[in-house]
Amino acid sequence: MANGESQKTKGQPGITQAALFGLCPCCGAKGLWGGPATLADICRACGQDFGRHEPKGRGLYIVVLPVTVLLIFVALKLDEVMQLPVWVLVPLWGSVVPLTVIGALRFAKAIVLMARLQKEGLL
Ligand SMILES: [Zn+2]
Repeated sequence: MANGESQKTKGQPGITQAALFGLCPCCGAKGLWGGPATLADICRACGQDFGRHEPKGRGLYIVVLPVTVLLIFVALKLDEVMQLPVWVLVPLWGSVVPLTVIGALRFAKAIVLMARLQKEGLL
């Protein structure tokens, strides 16, 4: 090994596994998410404190605003290409918008969590 970092982080989940499957970045156990886009307070397997690393408030605008603008452009483009009836649009956007925003927030929070844990030397 060139350095100790690669041995230490070997086998631990990356950002994608943490965001999509809710795997703890420290031990790999499930349970990173306490809500749809909210970190659990602690890891039930290793006791890692996630709550104090959770980004909150205006810091999340940097994620939510570009996603919102992107969704508006996609909706306008879709309406321009094909004029879907309202009964299709309501369930379509009613499911696409929350899933997209929650997914973006999960990725952003997983990135911030892993960066903060790395900065503290916990990863
Ligand atoms: Zn854990």
